[in-house]
Amino acid sequence: MYAEVIVDIAHSDVDKIFDYECGEGIEAGMRVAVPFGKGATTGFVMRVKGESEVPRERLRKILRAEDTPALTAESLLLAKKIAARYRVPLALTLRLFLPAEMRSGKVGERYRTVCRLAEGEPTLSARAKQQRALVEFLKDNKEADSALLREKFGGALKALLESGAVVAEKRRVFRDPYRGGESAQPPRVLTPAQRAAAETVRRSEKTVSLLHGVTGSGKTEVYLSLIADVLREGKTAIFLVPEISLTPQMLMQLRARFGSQAAILHSGLSAGERFDEWMRLRDGIARIAIGARSAVFAPVENVGIIVIDEEHDGSYSSESAPRYNTFDVALFRAQYNGCKLVLGSATPSVETYRRAKEGEFELIRLPDRINARPMPAIELVDMRREVRRGNATAFSAALREKLSACLSEGNQAILFLNRRGYSQTVICRDCGYCAKCENCDVALTYHSEEDCLKCHYCGARYRMLSVCPSCGGKHIGYVGTGTQRVVLELKKLYPSARVLRMDMDTTGGKEGHFRILRKFSDHEADILVGTQMVAKGHDFPSVTLVGILDADMSLHFPDFRSGERTFQLVTQVAGRSGRASAPGEVILQTYDPENYILRFAARYDYEGFYAHEIGMRAATNFPPFAKIVRVMVTGEEEKETVEALREVYETLRSLYAGSPEKFLFFNRMHAPIKRIQNKFRYQVLMRLAGGGGETLQKIYALCAEIKYKNVLIYVEENPGNLS
Ligand code: ADP
Ligand code: ZN
Repeated sequence: MYAEVIVDIAHSDVDKIFDYECGEGIEAGMRVAVPFGKGATTGFVMRVKGESEVPRERLRKILRAEDTPALTAESLLLAKKIAARYRVPLALTLRLFLPAEMRSGKVGERYRTVCRLAEGEPTLSARAKQQRALVEFLKDNKEADSALLREKFGGALKALLESGAVVAEKRRVFRDPYRGGESAQPPRVLTPAQRAAAETVRRSEKTVSLLHGVTGSGKTEVYLSLIADVLREGKTAIFLVPEISLTPQMLMQLRARFGSQAAILHSGLSAGERFDEWMRLRDGIARIAIGARSAVFAPVENVGIIVIDEEHDGSYSSESAPRYNTFDVALFRAQYNGCKLVLGSATPSVETYRRAKEGEFELIRLPDRINARPMPAIELVDMRREVRRGNATAFSAALREKLSACLSEGNQAILFLNRRGYSQTVICRDCGYCAKCENCDVALTYHSEEDCLKCHYCGARYRMLSVCPSCGGKHIGYVGTGTQRVVLELKKLYPSARVLRMDMDTTGGKEGHFRILRKFSDHEADILVGTQMVAKGHDFPSVTLVGILDADMSLHFPDFRSGERTFQLVTQVAGRSGRASAPGEVILQTYDPENYILRFAARYDYEGFYAHEIGMRAATNFPPFAKIVRVMVTGEEEKETVEALREVYETLRSLYAGSPEKFLFFNRMHAPIKRIQNKFRYQVLMRLAGGGGETLQKIYALCAEIKYKNVLIYVEENPGNLS
């Protein structure tokens, strides 16, 4: 027998099949150790066959193999597709399907030894008191851990094992990351609207359904009901959420409903826990895979449903190689398994909504909140007027008034803003000098707690300035407002209020987010101040006020999606207010109160927003009517990087010259941020008509051929971030 092996080295030079001789018992999907060059390496068996073209004397033998294949047939097929689509080595895409812990070999399976009595009455000498006690103990307990028995009865265990009176058995144990918190919750009775939504998904002839339900409309219960269905049929489920550390409530809900059938794949777990959760899925012990985008590669077979919650979220496109799109992978798996793919959002992405409206996806609406609770009213506050009135704080008079009322009624409030830190930037008021990072060419942010300047791109810290390094002036000032500064101002305004801050600086560590959210959920704080993280799907019943401090920030991002992002953000943050019996309110502060995006958001008018936005995109030829493609060229040596850029540009220019009608835009330039972490950044930016089609494939193929030792070259499609 012969095995076709891909070696686990992600380099294009070895990105091909190598044949090895193997014995019986080798199957496709197994990880194997093989001789390679002068040494050995690990690899994946892609196929087993009876013949090989390679001459016998050149064939080498597989050294070792795992007992069970780590990769399923579906995984192998999908890995090949992704490698072909994005022109990356197969070894790299195969890795997507394995927990990193498995490849490193640092974590293994954990066992314990369980002892019980052998059949028949044991014969024990009268003097062996400890042995008799142990036998009695096992009679009472049926079985016990060997460690416990050794501790309790000392050497007696060894003697009984040797005489055969007690038998030991090795058993697999799984490290359970979410022990406790399991209170076996019965399913809720679905509302008629929820029932109808679930029914439409089941009955639809379309593979993909889009559940467009306002915040608080009970989308989660619909997913859970569909998942329960497929479990009953003996199938498995994949449930994807944007950033799992931000959604502990969702996890608890799933664990409460499905117990240990649910496995959580989450980067915040310890290596051992993650490995075990993955193994439970691979072994079929757990049947629901829950996680962020990488869980779309979960090793479950016979998939009955895939859910992508908050489908509009930017975290669903990968920003490191291979730059796959989660939806595309999920769609492949749904088609392969013949199952449904359900997308859910209160603010679907423009592209998804268009596909649903055009009939490609089943469009299902949940237009009302559970129990007909009203959507919180959103009041637009003109901050220009506040400034004219001499209010230099981050809080408008309206927000202060509502905040006082909210606190005095014993309710909770969430304050959202886009920036972390004390204030955005530090400038010299005399000469306009702006403090920048030495590695990254971006403005630094002042952090008052540590009294230092930080770079939010590379994490570098700098001492706070007292004089301007450029002109020697002493008038150093701050521009903008960050989370830290808001917290300080709040403490002055409401000395007795308990304030929590949630942003990148406060959520370090494995349980960072979890701790903060739990504290707020237990009402150990009155006000939660935070960045995007507070906008996610949290369900805090006592929150009756949401303040959006700087709604404009994301509007002025140089990105075609900035309007869409702002609409989504405002809707999502506002959606945290008034979810239980007390009605909620939202104050939206802006310097641009006439802005149409904010106006649509304030009225919860998704349709109006969509109609406007899709019209703009069509008129200006932006996605989904075109595809933005960027080829990034980055390296530490500026000369080599520029050389690589020139080659990329010249190569692509001949493609462009061949069919200019397929390009709406074609140029090379510095990336907006010229340097990050000491790497120079250049780009060839293109806009392709339609979806890109063959031209896109050619761009991938051409770029894959260009190799420079110390320069990274990669292709991005409709990048979520054009900085
Ligand atoms: P969404 O994800 O659409 O924003 P959730 O799934 O968080 O909404 O549900 C909103 C709230 O309504 C939650 O507190 C949830 O427990 C509650 N809820 C959902 N479905 C029902 C139901 N059928 N009966 C009673 N309460 C429900
Ligand atoms: Zn930096």
